[in-house]
Amino acid sequence: MTTKLSTEQIKRLDDVRANYLEITGNIAAAAEKTGRKSEDISFLAATKTVEPEIINYAVSLGLKKLGENRVQELLSKYDEYDLEHAELQFIGHLQTNKVRQIVGKVSMIQSVDSERLAAEIARQSLKNGISTDILLEVNIGREENKSGVIVEELPELIDKIRVIDGVRVRGLMAIPPICDNKKEICKYFDNMYKIFIDISSKKLDNVSMDFLSMGMSDDYTEAILCGANMIRVGSRLFGARIYR
Ligand SMILES: *Cc1c(COP(=O)(O)O)cnc(C)c1O
Repeated sequence: MTTKLSTEQIKRLDDVRANYLEITGNIAAAAEKTGRKSEDISFLAATKTVEPEIINYAVSLGLKKLGENRVQELLSKYDEYDLEHAELQFIGHLQTNKVRQIVGKVSMIQSVDSERLAAEIARQSLKNGISTDILLEVNIGREENKSGVIVEELPELIDKIRVIDGVRVRGLMAIPPICDNKKEICKYFDNMYKIFIDISSKKLDNVSMDFLSMGMSDDYTEAILCGANMIRVGSRLFGARIYR
């Protein structure tokens, strides 16, 4: 079925297409500067507030990873994502009592910052006969009222979580503080990369440091230059968010 799009919708898709090409070009350039290829960098689109038609259009361009940050929104859009061609991840703060609603629907949960949350993801996963990939979220700026484990507590948290059956630690995620300049944000990214390498080198059982997820619309290039291999980009791809 072909539906006729309004001029405004066509303009929106054209913008998404141009943005997608710009971002993938920038990813390739930054990857190359660090001796990697664009395939080494996962481009995850943060899809909050974006309609499934627009998301799926981006998937048709080659986008492979989608990330939602609210359970309710993920569920309301779930049947419409093109999950034959892209995988869905959860990237937002997750309450323990909502875990049940998304386990089995997402390929990875990026925002695990407590043993309790990991244990519940594991419990729900085992019930479904699966194991769920998780990233541990680090509060790299030690900001109060922000999710994520602080660096000092990360080793202990990893040790507690890696022995839990039903989850698998696949890496780290961070959202650094808002910074005035690129130099400042790079300090946080550099620090995250150091921690990531440090943990990788320990070769812990049941931990594979495959993903370092950091960098958003305003700083994804810097993040890649500092060692990120997954970026989460929303507004730079889809345009400014409209909250309804
Ligand atoms: C919204 C969101 C992003 C992307 O934000 P933009 O600045 O629009 O690129 C990345 N990570 C998380 C966890 C988000 O919720």
